[in-house]
Amino acid sequence: MFQYLSNLIQFLVSAYRYDPAGNHQGPPPRQSRDTVSHMDKAIAMNRPATRESGPSSVLRRLRLYAGIAVNSLGWAGKRHPSGPLEVQIGIADPCNHRCVMCCYHPPEERKNDFTIASFGDSKQGLMDLQTFKDTIDDLYAMGTRNIELAGRGEPLLNKHATEMIAYAKSRGFTILLTTNASRLSAGVAEALVEAGLDRMHVSINAGEAETYPRIHVTENPENYLKVLANLRRLADIKSVYGTGKPYVGLSFAIGGRNYHELVRMVERAHETGSEEAFFQHTALHPDTPDLALSDSEYHQLIDDLVPQALQRAEALGVHTTLRSFASALPPYRLDEEEPEPVPCYVGSYYGVILGNGHVMACCQCSSSLGQLGENTRFRDIWQGQAYRNFRDAARRLPEASDEPTLKTCDCGHCILRQRNLSVHNALHPLSGVAVENSGEHIFRLRDLWAMQKSR
Ligand code: SF4
Ligand code: SF4
Repeated sequence: MFQYLSNLIQFLVSAYRYDPAGNHQGPPPRQSRDTVSHMDKAIAMNRPATRESGPSSVLRRLRLYAGIAVNSLGWAGKRHPSGPLEVQIGIADPCNHRCVMCCYHPPEERKNDFTIASFGDSKQGLMDLQTFKDTIDDLYAMGTRNIELAGRGEPLLNKHATEMIAYAKSRGFTILLTTNASRLSAGVAEALVEAGLDRMHVSINAGEAETYPRIHVTENPENYLKVLANLRRLADIKSVYGTGKPYVGLSFAIGGRNYHELVRMVERAHETGSEEAFFQHTALHPDTPDLALSDSEYHQLIDDLVPQALQRAEALGVHTTLRSFASALPPYRLDEEEPEPVPCYVGSYYGVILGNGHVMACCQCSSSLGQLGENTRFRDIWQGQAYRNFRDAARRLPEASDEPTLKTCDCGHCILRQRNLSVHNALHPLSGVAVENSGEHIFRLRDLWAMQKSR
């Protein structure tokens, strides 16, 4: 009961105390194989261009919370009362790179049925400008103000990317862009700064040019240097504009091919004028066992390289996620059994839209709940029968694990498990799910608001 009251108070207070600026944190310590693709790395966005204030802002936030609560209690009828807290919009499904650890765009020889299934069993697509604007308008009307432009491909392959960002910013959205920065030309960089893009995460994965093609296998060392130059130029443009935005984080998936470059990675963040370096353990696939660290390599990483990199980061003033990285075991070293899924409310607080218009409940589901089209907008899908079926089954997890709508979801390795647990335990005090390690699982409902995720 004490826990319930404490959660409830946090739930109410957070609507008043939420401060979107300056509360950046690194990704949560647990990793999943799905988090390694750069499209699915979503960290909280905390520098909105338009800071809402006053009663309308509080009411809007309360409406979003109410939507989660109503769904959690099974009271949502035909219409879901609010929009999601955040949506990932993939404005481009294709990618111009092929990375060894990528689920969606792996090197040619590793392509399989999963690659096609991941795009809703459809061809990959590029979102058109009007569909994007309609979606932004729908989200705005439903109270949503956070979007991540990432999805399952490279967003800057969409020629309308900067126009889309400018449009969403003009509507007061907070935006995170996740990119490999290969298409970050001077014009694009300037347009992004001018639009007021909030955050940018750059999937770079190497500290030295020679290492880059070992991860981004279709690239060469010169391409690495070009990416660094693109980032440096972005930093210069930022200082001309003097807005400090976007906040840039370089992202590194660490494994056997690059772990020895930890210090250089921190230095690269500094050299390019980036604010942060994100680290996470890489995923493995059956044909990439060399990405795994041996015991001695792993101990060298944790005992020697992380402290060295931390020291360097402190000296250079670069923020890092090295502490949470070091406290998380690589997925391939976990020998624990797959945990039982917990009741899930993602259908109320998050959504994924692909470039081809398919809408999915989360990054770890690949079945479509509808497809945007000439006569189908996001609001129709969000309020549609397929989404209702999904929400109904998801909140009945684990009993509903076999329901068709959850068949393509990897609920046993859910990266949103802690969020779902916190919603569930706050709103269902009499049937709360026990957590094994309270220290690890303390998660405040206000964090939902900040949408701290790991992608
Ligand atoms: S750059 Fe492309 S291939 Fe590499 S992880 Fe990102 S989406 Fe996948
Ligand atoms: S429990 Fe399943 S459906 Fe819910 S967020 Fe996790 S993976 Fe997605």
